[in-house]
Amino acid sequence: MKQRKVPLRKCVACQEMMPKKQLIRVVRTPEEEVLIDLSGKKSGRGAYLCGKEACFRLAQKNRSLDRALKAQVDSGIYEQLAQDFLRAEDEFLEAQKRVDNE
Ligand SMILES: [Zn+2]
Repeated sequence: MKQRKVPLRKCVACQEMMPKKQLIRVVRTPEEEVLIDLSGKKSGRGAYLCGKEACFRLAQKNRSLDRALKAQVDSGIYEQLAQDFLRAEDEFLEAQKRVDNE
């Protein structure tokens, strides 16, 4: 059987390479907004984070997202992202579980 190649992306916080599906995408839109992109389809410059709060906090501390997105992400945006991230994390983990059961 031919093995399908899984696209890998690097988490900007812990620098680990992971299958794209196991990462949460953060995107800087052409309108300069920084958003969590659960669909993975928004246009703009993307950065990836493991679906873990710890990695988000690390990215916040090191300002890894600023570097990855080549934009200044102010702390208010990080706070907003943190809240979205926690919500996204739940959805994300649920989705992972569903995939595992298939
Ligand atoms: Zn990570």
